[in-house]
Amino acid sequence: MYQDFKSHLQTELTTIEQAGLYKKERIIISPQGAKIRVQDGKEVLNFCANNYLGLSNNPSLIEAAKKGLDTHGYGVSSVRFICGTQDIHKQLEDSIARFFGTDDTILYAACFDANGGVFEPLLNEEDAIISDSLNHASIIDGVRLCKAQRYRYANADMDDLETQLKTSQAQRFRLIVTDGVFSMDGNVAPLDKIYELAKKYNAMVMVDESHSAGVVGTTGRGVTERFNLRGQIEIITGTLGKAFGGAIGGFTTGKKEIIELLRQRSRPYLFSNSIPPMVAAAGIRMFEMMDETNELQDRLHENTLYFVKSMKDAGFDIKPTESAICAVMLYDAKLSQDIATRLLEEGIYVTGFYYPVVPKDQARIRVQISAAHDREQLDKCITAFTKVGKEFGVITK
Ligand SMILES: *Cc1c(COP(=O)(O)O)cnc(C)c1O
Repeated sequence: MYQDFKSHLQTELTTIEQAGLYKKERIIISPQGAKIRVQDGKEVLNFCANNYLGLSNNPSLIEAAKKGLDTHGYGVSSVRFICGTQDIHKQLEDSIARFFGTDDTILYAACFDANGGVFEPLLNEEDAIISDSLNHASIIDGVRLCKAQRYRYANADMDDLETQLKTSQAQRFRLIVTDGVFSMDGNVAPLDKIYELAKKYNAMVMVDESHSAGVVGTTGRGVTERFNLRGQIEIITGTLGKAFGGAIGGFTTGKKEIIELLRQRSRPYLFSNSIPPMVAAAGIRMFEMMDETNELQDRLHENTLYFVKSMKDAGFDIKPTESAICAVMLYDAKLSQDIATRLLEEGIYVTGFYYPVVPKDQARIRVQISAAHDREQLDKCITAFTKVGKEFGVITK
């Protein structure tokens, strides 16, 4: 039996490889950071991590995690509702709710699970989910698991959203769903306008703050802070795996009754293990740090402004961004790969993205800025881009 299946898989794999879509994993032998060591021992500057606040290797979080190991053990060997709820899980949920100005929070193993488990328990075939076309894969999968009617609107297109809202008026409840920051362009969802339309057409709103939490808004409280909508949005999902330390863990935070029902019915919560105590302990410490100082957010915003401006001055075509994501547009797929390869030789680790991850002929290198980058490292990156950009005729200056 396996012989036939094996040759089928080999054909699939060859197809992926021939299309140039085979994903190879580069091995890193150091902690995550602005500077990382790759397997051949070479040190490179990392510009493609979601380590926006530079917390992935933060000493204070490592200490909190170690303490958590000592006081609460390595694992809990249980889902939350049987015997997997420790005091620190509840504390972390409270910290998240305070951070976002919401009623309550429910933790998941990852935001993929939070999104996978949020729709099906809340809505059914009488209802409507109206989803941005560029929403994250986990939202798309979560929507698929739910019986609600599905509507889609073009990315951040408020006319289209209004059309979908009108079309869905016959449904019982309507939920508009959007990423806070779209990961390929770095644009922020126009939550103020979404909220206005939601009010006008009697809909609720859900925002996935995975790329925006810790980053967007003066104090990094995400798009609800950016648009003065703290406490106004029914559902927020997010991850502990990006700006918030980068380990693992996801959450849904929002209205009290929504969270309460999710604890009763959300399948990835009911049928999957609690997050490790050390992650909960470090998470609590991380949110304390967010309350103590705004230093990291300030540095991130400064770094991003500096980088984007310098790259534009150098002649690069940069997508308008309101996040720490900076898309350097190259349009041609092969060019994006060749330039990324050349940049790595120059000690700059970035990734090129092309169709089908981004639209056809919209290939780009996505640079992700971190509070951990110092000015010298940013300059090194800009200098390398300028040198390689000239080599490939992308810029002429
Ligand atoms: C990264 C990301 C996720 C997945 O988060 P994990 O915690 O890694 O599962 C979900 N939604 C969005 C918008 C993301 O960017």
